[in-house]
Amino acid sequence: MRLSRYFMPVLKEDPKEAQIVSHRLMLRAGMIKQQAAGIYSWLPMGYRVLRRIEQIVHEEQARAGHIAMLMPTLQSADLWRESGRYDDYGEEMLRIKDRHKRDLLYGPTNEEMITDIFRAHVNSYKDLPLTLYHVQWKFRDEIRPRFGVMRGREFLMKDGYNFDLTREDALHAYNRHLVSYLRTYERMGLQAIPMRADGGPIGGDYTHEFLVLAETGESEVFYDSEITDLKFGSRDIDYDSVEQCQAVLEEFTSRYARTDETHDEALFNQIPAERRRVARGIEVGQIFYFGTKYSEPMGATVVGPDGQRVPVHMGSHGIGVSRLLGAIIEASHDDKGIIWPEGVTPFHVGIVNLKQGDASTDSACEALYKELKSQGFDPLYDDRDERAGAKFATMDLIGLPWRITVGPRGLAANKVELTSRRNGQSVELSPQEAMARLK
Ligand code: ATP
Ligand code: MG
Ligand code: MG
Ligand code: MG
Repeated sequence: MRLSRYFMPVLKEDPKEAQIVSHRLMLRAGMIKQQAAGIYSWLPMGYRVLRRIEQIVHEEQARAGHIAMLMPTLQSADLWRESGRYDDYGEEMLRIKDRHKRDLLYGPTNEEMITDIFRAHVNSYKDLPLTLYHVQWKFRDEIRPRFGVMRGREFLMKDGYNFDLTREDALHAYNRHLVSYLRTYERMGLQAIPMRADGGPIGGDYTHEFLVLAETGESEVFYDSEITDLKFGSRDIDYDSVEQCQAVLEEFTSRYARTDETHDEALFNQIPAERRRVARGIEVGQIFYFGTKYSEPMGATVVGPDGQRVPVHMGSHGIGVSRLLGAIIEASHDDKGIIWPEGVTPFHVGIVNLKQGDASTDSACEALYKELKSQGFDPLYDDRDERAGAKFATMDLIGLPWRITVGPRGLAANKVELTSRRNGQSVELSPQEAMARLK
């Protein structure tokens, strides 16, 4: 992409409405625009990152054997009357009437709808296990939307639902989700710690939230510092193996880590004092096992091996796709701007032309730009007629992991400069060497 032809409305001044750094940087970098309280347009730069995050989610769900689909945003109130949640859900639910005065709602989550799909089409235990998921916009009429996309009213969520014959099978699905979530967040450059939590309106008492530690997080968390040493890394897990998934769950949940809702002071005090941590965190996902809470009232049953009909055991599993942009920036920025982890960056590399209009500098930049594209990179070429200082400031603000700076003086010796956004270090290399380093 050429910056001169792109749409990236960068703000020079800090927007007044932003209270936290991720919101400020997303507005300054021209990634989002608020349309109403907690409702945002995703401008091209923000949209790119959103899609990359979504893509990682899809890849990791596929790896775990979960099946993608898409359900609508609008739902019929009747389904929610069946589960009893239409009245229980309260004011967070946006209720709508159509022209025939039928009650609809903008889905805040999809347990009822997926259960309806399941009961219409699945009859036998032989079709289990089954895990279906989608990535779709949700609406929750949050009382205090704030912090930009972190607490929006309209937000993008991945929500998945498992259907199993027995509690044991459903707990395996739970563990499989835990493993796949650990991988998912690490690919985004995040450490998200599974913590014992509360079921809330989804229900069930077996649940973990995934929290990214950050001072601006809305949850208070209590944990054993040893947990931050754990890393999932690139291990190869067989998602069908009950033992392997169970072992990961045990490894990542055996140390004390809880949100304030389930915090137990007496248990916490058993940890050696120097390892006790009280901090704040951002909830970027949650997994639930809730058994037959929805399948029973809604009649989602299968015929078991003994010929008897039984309600299926279910769980649901959510990732805050749009919230993750904020969480990643909270965890990865400096005073100049965003520092995108490689896994989610909107462009791989920025090219800065120090002397736009100079024939040889322009042609060196063009050659680099074309070559990078043909090698499968996604470069952002700053070809605007701007001062070098302004170009550097923009690149630092938008946080691409690599910058290649091209100027007449370096070119005289066939050199360009390759700079890492994370540590600020630069090396002088030939254009070919610079490209080879990016691989
Ligand atoms: P919170 O405690 O922050 O209100 P929640 O527990 O109500 O979140 P879940 O029902 O667990 O949310 O939904 C799954 C994920 O969706 C959450 O872990 C979070 O990352 C994301 N999410 C929930 N509410 C919002 C929101 N208002 N804006 C952006 N993301 C959200
Ligand atoms: Mg909530
Ligand atoms: Mg919560
Ligand atoms: Mg939650």
